[in-house]
Amino acid sequence: MEIIRYPADILRQKTEAVSQIDQETAELAAAMLTTMVEGHGIGLAGPQVGQLLSLFVAQDENGKPYVFINPEITGTSLETVGYEEGCLSLPGIYEEVIRPEAVQIQAWNEKGRFFKMECSGLIARVVQHELDHLKGTLFIDYLTPLKRDRLLKLYEKKSRQ
Ligand SMILES: [Zn+2]
Repeated sequence: MEIIRYPADILRQKTEAVSQIDQETAELAAAMLTTMVEGHGIGLAGPQVGQLLSLFVAQDENGKPYVFINPEITGTSLETVGYEEGCLSLPGIYEEVIRPEAVQIQAWNEKGRFFKMECSGLIARVVQHELDHLKGTLFIDYLTPLKRDRLLKLYEKKSRQ
């Protein structure tokens, strides 16, 4: 699958819930996982591959893959932490973003099974970043205008190379 890059409009659009989890959904999730791994990413959301659907794939620090369909955050820790984020739709740029250290998420997997997960550390970070994609939010939106401008200039420069 082709990964759509910033500033494509689709990255700013809101997704719709997956109405039925079937074979097609499972194939889409599998293709997204392959694309994520090939792109050396640890998360990939529907809009990034041209699908305005509420789903994303991710892997934890051990490389274990996860599929989150119609995900929802049901709890966040008060404690926040800074971590340097990047994005497959904004290749080549990285910046620290502060987010809750831990989150509770609920979703369905590609087999249609409902699950809840307590996430902390890297997977908590990935889950929050990917959930943002489903709402049209990108990690650069959390930066100060000055930092964002500087980073986007660097991105444009790298994109031209
Ligand atoms: Zn991203």
